[in-house]
Amino acid sequence: LDVNVVPVYFTDQEWAGVLLLMQDMSKIRQLERMRSEFVANVSHELKTPIAAVKGFTETLMNGAIHDAEIAQSFLKIIHDESERLNRLIGDILQLSKIEAKRVPLLFSPVFMPSFMEDTVNMLRKEAAKKHIDISMTVEEDMYIEADEDRLRQIVLNLLSNAINYTPDGGRVNITAAPLAVNEDGDYDQVRIRISDTGIGIPKKDLPRIFERFYRVDKARSRGSGGTGLGLSIVKHLVDSHHGTIQVESTVGVGTTFTIEMPVLQEG
Ligand code: ADP
Repeated sequence: LDVNVVPVYFTDQEWAGVLLLMQDMSKIRQLERMRSEFVANVSHELKTPIAAVKGFTETLMNGAIHDAEIAQSFLKIIHDESERLNRLIGDILQLSKIEAKRVPLLFSPVFMPSFMEDTVNMLRKEAAKKHIDISMTVEEDMYIEADEDRLRQIVLNLLSNAINYTPDGGRVNITAAPLAVNEDGDYDQVRIRISDTGIGIPKKDLPRIFERFYRVDKARSRGSGGTGLGLSIVKHLVDSHHGTIQVESTVGVGTTFTIEMPVLQEG
C-alpha cells in the first residue's frame, strides 16, 4: 500500500487539512508486470518471422539462388513469413486498440441470417481447399444489436480456427438461435455456436487458450499462419458486447465454442 499525505491550504497561511492518498500498489505493479511480459512476448513473436526472412535471404544470396527449385521454395517461405508478420502486427495493433478502449463500439441492428451467410462465405474457399463442409442454421428473422464489424471479427476468428485445426474432410457446424423464448415469442439473449470435428484441445490447455500468444502446439499454429492472438481478441470483443464465451473440447473429436450475448446493448 502506498500512502501519500498532502497538506491542503485555503490561502497561503490558512491550513484546511490534509489529503490522504492511498493506492493499492500490488495492482499497479501487477499491471506493470503484465505490460512488460506482453512487450517481451511481442518482441519474441516479431523476431521469429524476421529471423526466417533474414536467414533464407542470406542463404539465397550465398548461392542458393542458382538452384531454381530451392530458390522457389525459399522465396515461398520468405513470402509466407512476411504475411504472418503482417497479420501479427495487425492483430497486435487491434488488440492494443481494444484494450485501450480507444475505438468506441458502434451498435446497430444486425440481421443475423444474411450477416452469418456473408461472413461464412468469406471463408468458404479456405474450407473448400481442405474439403471441409460448413453447415449453418440461423433462426429466421433474427436481429441482434451489435457492432457489425466486431461481430464479424468474432465469427471469422472462431471459424478460421475451426478450419485450421480440423483435418481434411472434416465438418464445421454453425448455429445462431435465441435463448429462452417466452410465450410471446420474445427473447433477450442469443446463442452462437461454432463446432468442428477437429484435433481438439487438451483439458489442461482449455483455461489458457484465451490468453495472448497462448498456443497448444506452437509449431502447428505457426505452420497454419496463426498469431496466437485470435482468441484473446475474440474474448475482448465478446466482453464488450456484454456476452460470455465458453469452450468444450475433446482431443481427437472436436471443439465447440459457445457465445451468449444480449439482443439489446442498452437498458
Ligand atoms: P492461433 O493464431 O494460434 O490460432 P488463437 O488465439 O486463435 O491463436 O488460438 C489459441 C490456440 O487455441 C491455438 O493455437 C490452438 O492451439 C487452440 N485452438 C483454437 N481454436 C481451436 C480449435 N477450433 N480446435 C483446436 N484447437 C484450437
